[in-house]
Amino acid sequence: EAAANRIAAGEVVERPASAVKELVENALDAGARRISVDYADGGKTLIRVSDDGTGIPAEELPLALSRHATSKIDGTDLLNIHTFGFRGEALPSLGAVGRLGITSRPPGAASACRITVDGGRMSDVLPAAGNPGTVVELRDLFHATPARLKFLRTDRAEAQAIGDVVRRLAMAEPGVGFTLRDRGSNRTLFRADPETGDLFSALHGRLRQVLGPEFADNAVRVDAERDGVRLTGFAALPTYSRGAAVSQFLFVNGRPVKDRLLLGALRAAYSDVLSRDRHPAAALFVTVDPERVDVNVHPAKSEVRFRDAALVRSLLINGVRAALADAGH
Ligand code: ADP
Ligand code: MG
Repeated sequence: EAAANRIAAGEVVERPASAVKELVENALDAGARRISVDYADGGKTLIRVSDDGTGIPAEELPLALSRHATSKIDGTDLLNIHTFGFRGEALPSLGAVGRLGITSRPPGAASACRITVDGGRMSDVLPAAGNPGTVVELRDLFHATPARLKFLRTDRAEAQAIGDVVRRLAMAEPGVGFTLRDRGSNRTLFRADPETGDLFSALHGRLRQVLGPEFADNAVRVDAERDGVRLTGFAALPTYSRGAAVSQFLFVNGRPVKDRLLLGALRAAYSDVLSRDRHPAAALFVTVDPERVDVNVHPAKSEVRFRDAALVRSLLINGVRAALADAGH
């Protein structure tokens, strides 16, 4: 059983960044308004995600660590999932591949409680100090499976992947405050306060925080719709292009994706105004009826398949071109 758990866990948790993704998504699902991510040594020795969300009642802590226990869905309506999580796999998987500690306090509770799990073995639930919300700490990822540990990249590369995941989720949720800290060097790498206002001003403010003022000042608003598919976001002027495709952020129904079709369409949108060795920068959100898109339900992947691929492609190309043309490009 323990071995089977570790194999299954390996699929959910490939590297520190995938653990961070699962934990931040849980915090978002819990309605957090502020989320802090701390790590050390590229996340290999420490990952800590703190939130001010709904918390987990003491009596539910052991359940949260049990495989296929989720509080989010009853299994009857897989198409209309509004939470990131619904499989109940992340926490048990993390408990199988590292030393996991959860300290949680629902806002109404008088104090926090804590549970730990190491190598799949669960502790008792004990009272602990803690603010309302949840702190999940994962130490020594893959300590029991040196072969997996060896496949991780340098601390620097793993830290970069963590930063990428947090930045993408921060763009997807402008209303939520994010902080990312490297505990090894005690540096705050990134901080974004909750944005208010309408969709575009909140997103613009968030992009200024995440991608920097230079992007924000050189980006045009994209807002297009066809046959029930909507495209919103910001695309940078060709003058802000990059030598590598590092600033391309795409989202489908609010989730970060790395999708070939969308990336290809983005490149095509700029084909007349950018030379082939330059890459456009953009943060674009596709919103479509969930029945018209297959979100690959494998947790570690971020590919999607649109039922109307040609429609989505032309919407993106024309939507971005129209926005650039309005700005005189
Ligand atoms: P899933 O997200 O698919 O439900 P997880 O294993 O990620 O599965 O989490 C299991 C359960 O633990 C969740 O359904 C939720 O009830 C609870 N949980 C996990 N993280 C948090 C959190 N940060 N705040 C509140 N509840 C949480
Ligand atoms: Mg989850």
